[in-house]
Amino acid sequence: MKTILDIELANKYNSVPQKIRVLTETWVDKEIFCPNCGCNVDSYKNSKPVADFYCPNCNEDYELKSKKDKMGNRILDGAYGIMIKRLQSENNPNFFFLNYGIKNYEVQNFVVIPKHFFTPEIIIKRNKGIPNRPNYIMCSIDLLSIPQSGKIFYIKNGQIENKNNILKNWQKTLFLREEKKISAKGWLLDTMNCVDKIGKKEFKLDEVYAFEDILSKKYPSNKHIKDKIRQQLQFLRDNGYLNFVAPGKYRVS
Ligand SMILES: [Zn+2]
Repeated sequence: MKTILDIELANKYNSVPQKIRVLTETWVDKEIFCPNCGCNVDSYKNSKPVADFYCPNCNEDYELKSKKDKMGNRILDGAYGIMIKRLQSENNPNFFFLNYGIKNYEVQNFVVIPKHFFTPEIIIKRNKGIPNRPNYIMCSIDLLSIPQSGKIFYIKNGQIENKNNILKNWQKTLFLREEKKISAKGWLLDTMNCVDKIGKKEFKLDEVYAFEDILSKKYPSNKHIKDKIRQQLQFLRDNGYLNFVAPGKYRVS
């Protein structure tokens, strides 16, 4: 995998956004494989409103966003209302995020966020609308509220990750697609985030219970937070995301 964007390609374009678009799209088209099946992705020739790339083998769709300089914790995106509406639809694409160096046009980070990690919670309103269209609120995607397993890196801080690991990491969370109800998915993602925060390969049930206060603030009508936590852990275990080691003890797969 080459990590340098081909700057020559941008010469014939005048506007900076257009230049960046051409550089990044050409690079993805050449270098990136579908994380679901390993085939090379293709770009939609006539830009589709919701996606930039697709896999000719398994039909997954991908939208590309890019950012120069530092990766940061937020990805700027389009209109808030449209984004929220898209989350409910079947053709919501997965997300590619490309971050390149400002001086050398080298890809520093490239990550795919599977579409099943998108919930309204990670879509943040940006304060300012477009001038003259004050009701037109734009949004950002909050990377911090997505569990680690929902950020699958191809390139991390300039280091290329192993293809087999990328494919494996993708398969690991596909079970979330079965969970169509956003509220049920929210609980699962919250629990995955708690496990991330514990930050250990092996952890105890009590360590997840420590998040009870935070979760009960988030779900004030739920009076059985601990039961709910246990239920989520069990679901994650049934789907191979966690292993059961001993009573009250789990391991991240
Ligand atoms: Zn594919």
